Amino acid sequence: MNLAIKKYGMVREKTIGETLSFEGIGIHTGEKTRIVLHPEEEGKGVRFYKEGIFIPANYRFVVNTNHSTDLGREGVVIKTVEHLLAVLHLLEITNLTVEVKGPEIPILDGSGQEFYEVLKDSTVYQNREIEYFEIKDTVEILNGKAYVKAEPSESLEITYEGEFNNFLGKQSFTFLEGNEEEIVLARTFCFDWEIEYIKKAGLGKGGSLENTLVLGKEKVYNPDGLRFKDEPVRHKVFDIVGDLYLLGKPVKGKIYSFRGGHSLNYKLVKKLAEIEKSQRLKIKEVAQYTA
Ligand code: UDP
Ligand code: ZN
Repeated sequence: MNLAIKKYGMVREKTIGETLSFEGIGIHTGEKTRIVLHPEEEGKGVRFYKEGIFIPANYRFVVNTNHSTDLGREGVVIKTVEHLLAVLHLLEITNLTVEVKGPEIPILDGSGQEFYEVLKDSTVYQNREIEYFEIKDTVEILNGKAYVKAEPSESLEITYEGEFNNFLGKQSFTFLEGNEEEIVLARTFCFDWEIEYIKKAGLGKGGSLENTLVLGKEKVYNPDGLRFKDEPVRHKVFDIVGDLYLLGKPVKGKIYSFRGGHSLNYKLVKKLAEIEKSQRLKIKEVAQYTA
């Protein structure tokens, strides 16, 4: 859809038509939390607001990538922003303030479904033309067993390949623009052998079968099983969509991730931003020189 619009006309910025709220518990803190989404003017960007502090949805404010992506500024921290950001990215909602009344973004059912269903019916176009973050060069990062590659593409395309130490084995999934519904339903997951370690780290206090797909060596603990046989890798793609939105603009480019997680996604985002910045400075220098 975006490709067609891009070809035949301009794509415009978006916000939401009315104030919306969501509540639930935080997967890591286990605390009750509520967010109120406020429409914003063109050019404002996506930002969070908590205790008098605005925190832009930007990689510069990342304070943790261990088991979730958390943002912070001046001592104010907002945990687990990635699923909400993924939905905002998929819907190309570019102007919005997320007021956070609690320590974390609610996990809901562990997927992006509720955010997506509610927000999709509430998006409104604005007048300004959207600016994309266009990946211009090929970038590769190797991080232990994990690897990620980003390259130019006219549309957002993300492939995740996982290699799991249980019945899932090797799985891969590719997201293409227009297929948003294939990834918004996929829930966050963990393995039974990790739970003790996660709890010891003081995380996962709100985790349950209501909001997490729990997998064992040979079984799925959730009574209704998997939503898709490749639900874990679909969720990994969804997480990448969320973390990429920390570039501050909807992204156009092709990503391939092998065994990646939030930490590798963050490394990629920082590297892409660095390259973009040096290119911008170069263009500015040339412009000054030739002026
Ligand atoms: N994992 C795995 N294969 C994969 C990707 C992840 O076995 O292809 C494991 C990983 O070793 C970890 C868990 O799944 O035990 C969660 O992954 P990760 O730390 O990347 O997730 P995040 O913290 O980013 O959600
Ligand atoms: Zn996730």
